[in-house]
Amino acid sequence: MAARETDVLIAGLGPVGAVLALLLAQWGVRSIAIERDHEVYKLPRAAHFDHEIMRVFQQVGIADALLPHTRALSRYEFRNAAGDTLMLIEQRDGNAISGWRPSYMFHQPAMEGLLRERLKECGQIQTMLGATLSEIEHNTENGVVARVVHDDGSEDTISARYLVGCDGGSSTTRRMAGIDLFDYGFDEPWLVIDTLVEDESMLPQCGLQHCDPARPTTVMPMSPGRRRWEFMLKPGETVEQVTDDAFIDQLLKAWLDPSAANVIRKAVYRFHGLVAKQWRACSVLLAGDAAHQMPPFLGQGMCSGVRDAASLAWRLGLVINHGASGALLDTYQTEREPHVRAIIETAIGMGRVVCTMDEAAAAARDRDMIAARKAGAAGGAPFLPSLGEGMFHASPRAGEIFPQADTGSSRKFDDLAGEGFWLIGHDAHAADAPAFVRRHTLTGDVPALCDWLGDAEAVLVRPDRYVFGTGTPAALIAALKAQLRHG
Ligand SMILES: Cc1cc2nc3c(=O)[nH]c(=O)nc-3n(C[C@H](O)[C@H](O)[C@H](O)COP(=O)(O)OP(=O)(O)OC[C@H]3O[C@@H](n4cnc5c(N)ncnc54)[C@H](O)[C@@H]3O)c2cc1C
Repeated sequence: MAARETDVLIAGLGPVGAVLALLLAQWGVRSIAIERDHEVYKLPRAAHFDHEIMRVFQQVGIADALLPHTRALSRYEFRNAAGDTLMLIEQRDGNAISGWRPSYMFHQPAMEGLLRERLKECGQIQTMLGATLSEIEHNTENGVVARVVHDDGSEDTISARYLVGCDGGSSTTRRMAGIDLFDYGFDEPWLVIDTLVEDESMLPQCGLQHCDPARPTTVMPMSPGRRRWEFMLKPGETVEQVTDDAFIDQLLKAWLDPSAANVIRKAVYRFHGLVAKQWRACSVLLAGDAAHQMPPFLGQGMCSGVRDAASLAWRLGLVINHGASGALLDTYQTEREPHVRAIIETAIGMGRVVCTMDEAAAAARDRDMIAARKAGAAGGAPFLPSLGEGMFHASPRAGEIFPQADTGSSRKFDDLAGEGFWLIGHDAHAADAPAFVRRHTLTGDVPALCDWLGDAEAVLVRPDRYVFGTGTPAALIAALKAQLRHG
């Protein structure tokens, strides 16, 4: 049995583990990423991500290559069986605050393939495919020792400063660390079908929840030429029954001639809402589905995991390579958990609207929602909640997403600004900043940022693009240093 050593052991190379490894490498953190399977996961899962996630994909270098596998989506509509609109979420044209379109539909295997290619290019990341985390032998504040079993039956012991479990909903890491789940008590079975469709012109051009109590159904455009249908199972229906080709044809018939749709994936999922009670146990941390799972009605499960990775990477980078206190890692959960819970609760609320199979309850729902729409309620853009308490400097605009402003050139602002923290102001060199803080003095080259700053002298932006605080450069840097010392 060989013994290996690294800074961070990442268990699971789904989207969250892969993004985390790539972001850690930007902090000079060495990682070993182990993945049970050899290929990216083939079954249908995420179909949507938002502008903030595209900004993270930009940060890890896949955004441009990913664009052809996406389609921007501006309407998400809930309709009743008669076709009346119950709720309409409309996004405005143009870019959102992160410098990308508000919402994208996409093809998850293509995105994961691009992440895998990036991993191969990155020297600091050692990827082991066909390698399964089997046991955590040792976990203290000083590090972890984990046992890994390879496909050929051989074993490795890996010692790491930290282990991050990105190993999905049935996380071995979570179980080994003895972490329990909070269960929201939402548990609904759905059949998910991905298809290739040549002519989409007759299909809904929006994301559609067809709230028909006889068979609640979701219809989603994905990347160009790809369509997803989700059908709620009725009581008593079995997986074998609903995944039968003839049964699927019957379901699709309501929407198109089934021979026009090439079914490429089908699977039954239980949609539920779960949150790990602890996101850190000594040197073990959880991210992505290992830490939380939600029904897909907001399309935010993977998005939330990618936000976890973006929140965790710079914290680990500062602790491992820049002497920050390990207590900084505790603010990962205090910031992220309220954000995730708010999204889960909204997704479950939407799920309860959709998953109504009782005819009388559906009729009452339709009456109430149509009346609410007439009264001007509902609609607008989907919300993104605020982060919880954490590593911010109490000052105006702390905790906001920092805009990716238009630079007037083909290069995006984040690419020009580079990695690390950003101190941006009228005189950003007026403070003695650590090396991981990049300083940008505004010279009128990016007018939108001068407008954003207003009366403030400067803003300090965190690597996950949230505002640490505004104020004088000296006060911001002093506050940053104090928080890195004490967490
Ligand atoms: C039907 C459906 C629709 C969805 N739609 C959306 C959507 O529109 N938008 C959205 O944002 N999210 C959506 N999601 C959720 C999204 O797919 C997940 O949140 C996301 O894939 C989780 O990523 P992850 O990296 O945390 O976990 P996973 O993608 O599950 O990856 C975990 C990885 O860990 C590996 N692994 C597991 N155990 C071990 C072990 N012991 N050792 C080594 N490796 C291990 C697995 O092989 C896997 O590759 C949807 C989910 C479903 C089911």
